[in-house]
Amino acid sequence: MATYNPKSLKAEEFINDGEILATLEYAEQNKHNAALIDRILAKARPQKTEKGCVCQGLTHREASVLLACDIPEKVEEIYRIAEEIKLAFYGNRIVMFAPLYLSNYCVNGCLYCPYHMSNKHITRKKLTQEEVRQEVIALQDMGHKRLAIEAGEDPVQNPIEYILECIRTIYGINHKNGAIRRVNVNIAATTVDNYRRLKEAGIGTYILFQETYHKKSYLELHPTGPKHDYDYHAEAMDRAMEGGIDDVGLGVLFGLEMYKYEFAGLIIHAEHLEAVHGVGPHTISIPRVKHADDIDPDVFDNSIPDDMFAKIIACIRLAVPYTGMIISTRESQEVREQALRLGISQVSGASRTSVGGYTEKERPHDSEQFDVSDQRSLDEVVHWLMQNGHIPSFCTACYREGRTGDRFMSLCKTGQILNCCHPNALMTLTEYLVDYASEETRKTGFALIEQELSKIPNEKVRTTAARNIADIKHSNRRDFRF
Ligand code: SF4
Ligand code: SF4
Repeated sequence: MATYNPKSLKAEEFINDGEILATLEYAEQNKHNAALIDRILAKARPQKTEKGCVCQGLTHREASVLLACDIPEKVEEIYRIAEEIKLAFYGNRIVMFAPLYLSNYCVNGCLYCPYHMSNKHITRKKLTQEEVRQEVIALQDMGHKRLAIEAGEDPVQNPIEYILECIRTIYGINHKNGAIRRVNVNIAATTVDNYRRLKEAGIGTYILFQETYHKKSYLELHPTGPKHDYDYHAEAMDRAMEGGIDDVGLGVLFGLEMYKYEFAGLIIHAEHLEAVHGVGPHTISIPRVKHADDIDPDVFDNSIPDDMFAKIIACIRLAVPYTGMIISTRESQEVREQALRLGISQVSGASRTSVGGYTEKERPHDSEQFDVSDQRSLDEVVHWLMQNGHIPSFCTACYREGRTGDRFMSLCKTGQILNCCHPNALMTLTEYLVDYASEETRKTGFALIEQELSKIPNEKVRTTAARNIADIKHSNRRDFRF
């Protein structure tokens, strides 16, 4: 039997089944151990320093105890601390993005995804470069600046050359005042050499969901195709980092396996990246299994209710405070509202989860990867966020200033976020309001920006941000950033 070793590069040693089972047992034994829980909560709380705020985070065992704990006042405290951390490191800013589906050809047999190879009736599509252009123009016309591109795994239809060509096309389109400034990539596990090519193409984050950390379930859920290889999939982030990609995004598909197992696996994976590469994951995504074409979510008997979903988000926030958290339009407006308070830092808006969906007037269903619960327009999402006290941000500054990996982390840890993210959020929101928003959203947004400018601590930064905002309003100058 493999021994747990967070520094190992072998999947069975760094995501070690024995360690996860021991963690679950430890959590179960200690879920009512009030003294231990108080110590863990004290460790998780943000600490003020001369420069700002720091957070220690939690180990997978500590975080699992909190997740198992059902003492009402302790659970309340978990939520309170999650909100504190969210405010300390992310403030009220929410980064906006949209997925762009390039191709749904896929040779894998994932049982939870309608793109699986044996689905013979779903419409298969692959965008041509001209279609990519049209999709991107439609996204730019909504106001998006940050995309996550998605493609099935198919070495013939979607080879790496196709993905690279699409990235070049996307970065090359400047329509009116629009531009996609950051392309994150969610494609199948691949080789170090291919990761290097993606890095050279200027991608932001490389995103790959483990789907489930439970190996036996993983093998059953991925019966055919290259994705069946659990180890190759789990070790992908190490290869991506070896290929020079600093920012990687983890995720599991909640509902496939027992959530406590997935949660421990996710935190263990984050610890492994930190132990080996000196930097943890840039983001964590928390999708839940949803209905789609021939997929019935009720077939998977590990679905989690909304309140447990909220608790998972809060516990992730405590465990890895510097990791961004992403929620998609899979979730309804109500679920997203609560999740935002507890630690989510990025949301998608106005998503179409089908290939070629943005150029269609009505949301097409024939090639969707999953049903979209939140179907509002980007303008509606932006307006709703502002009415709930959030600042929608279209910022992509870090990656373009070379602040990736540990350089990004040091920005977080030295408390410079208020002098950096905050003005960048206000400037990019101004761009959105001037170029794309409805009259009502614009009015709400300008009032919010006036208020929020005063929160920038550094006077020089504050003055420059105000000057740039005036420039955006009164000229075609764009893309200011700190
Ligand atoms: Fe293919 Fe990805 Fe769907 Fe699996 S989840 S069938 S790899 S597109
Ligand atoms: Fe993200 Fe960097 Fe922009 Fe802050 S400044 S919102 S960390 S890209």
